[in-house]
Amino acid sequence: MALVVKKFGGSSVATPEKILAVAQRVLAEKSLEDKVVVVVSAMGDTTDDLISLANAVMDPVYNNSREMDMLLATGEQISIALLSMAFARLGQPAISLTGMQAGVQSNTAYGKGRILDITPERVLAELNKGKIVVVAGFQGVTPDGDIITLGRGGSDTSAVALAGALRADACEIFTDVDGIYSADPRVVPTARKMKEITYNEMLEMARLGAGVMQPRSVEMGKFYGVPIHVRSTFTQNEGTFIREEYTVEEKEFIIRGVTHDTNVAKIAVLGVPDRPGIAYKLFSALAEANIDVDMIVQSVRSTQKNIIDMVFTIAQPDIVQARQIVEKIGEELGTMGVQVEENVAKVSVVGAGMLGNPGIAANMFGALADAEINIEVISTSEISISCVIKAEQVNEAVQAIHARFFSAS
Ligand code: ASP
Ligand code: MG
Repeated sequence: MALVVKKFGGSSVATPEKILAVAQRVLAEKSLEDKVVVVVSAMGDTTDDLISLANAVMDPVYNNSREMDMLLATGEQISIALLSMAFARLGQPAISLTGMQAGVQSNTAYGKGRILDITPERVLAELNKGKIVVVAGFQGVTPDGDIITLGRGGSDTSAVALAGALRADACEIFTDVDGIYSADPRVVPTARKMKEITYNEMLEMARLGAGVMQPRSVEMGKFYGVPIHVRSTFTQNEGTFIREEYTVEEKEFIIRGVTHDTNVAKIAVLGVPDRPGIAYKLFSALAEANIDVDMIVQSVRSTQKNIIDMVFTIAQPDIVQARQIVEKIGEELGTMGVQVEENVAKVSVVGAGMLGNPGIAANMFGALADAEINIEVISTSEISISCVIKAEQVNEAVQAIHARFFSAS
């Protein structure tokens, strides 16, 4: 007997036919004694459609985040009900549960909830009755009893966290690609599929833009020690395993992946007084508003003393709020102005092997230089290097860097 959690993304349940196909696949893979939890996303582009609907009604000047979550959580409720009906049609007892019913408890950061705990008693009770339990991904409940969503792509996190809390034997993420690639195959057709990748490398790739997995889900996998198998809904092929350490694959490449992210905006605060406490003031205000700041560069002006420029990047959806905050604080501090640039992208290389391998950065910058791509901001971590460039050059940049690190010769 095994307890497995299987997650199907929006494209896997986009139509009634696909929902029936998912039910069939789950049953075909299930032995009689297996206990199966299926986590699903909203059908197809439902979440985007709901966001458009909200945008047509709301005024962004007001804080609509609670109502937004109330709205977005409905998408997953449609798919859990339909998938449970599909199981019933195939003669398999099943029950749908919302995030709240499944015991997914979150903090109160609307739109970006973080799972604090999972109390899956109801899930276990239904499994013990011989049912397949179909859980709505992407949602949880706050301490006040409000519905909350876990950020775009949050169903991955729901699935991995449930697998951890249930001490599941396996967690499979079914999606429309057949694994994790060394770059987005739509941009680099020769990108290679990996058999395995470590949590740390995957976390970095996800954080830096690899769309396959929500970063938080990889963190959860690492925390609980749940191996995650990312694979295609539409084929039987083995996908990519995300786990603590490599088991079989030779680490032939120091760099594991080249990722890119166009969901980036750059904010420059110009002419900031150079004295202690300024960065604290600015970034604590952004943190209070739950805005993630990514790269930060502080640069001295050769011509003016005691004045610096502060440049940092954030995710594009945070622009409006971030601009308001930064402009207000900028005024208080007497800075010279705020510039927001949306037309930028971030390209990164990731690999644990770069630790102790000097020259990786130079190689990456060399690839960009040869392609005549200008670098605006650079940041590094132990296992990654990122550059902010113009958005329209991003595909070219990924291709050039991938060719540099992965060419067969
Ligand atoms: N439906 C949500 C989204 O589109 C959550 C998910 O798909 O994981 O972001
Ligand atoms: Mg989705």
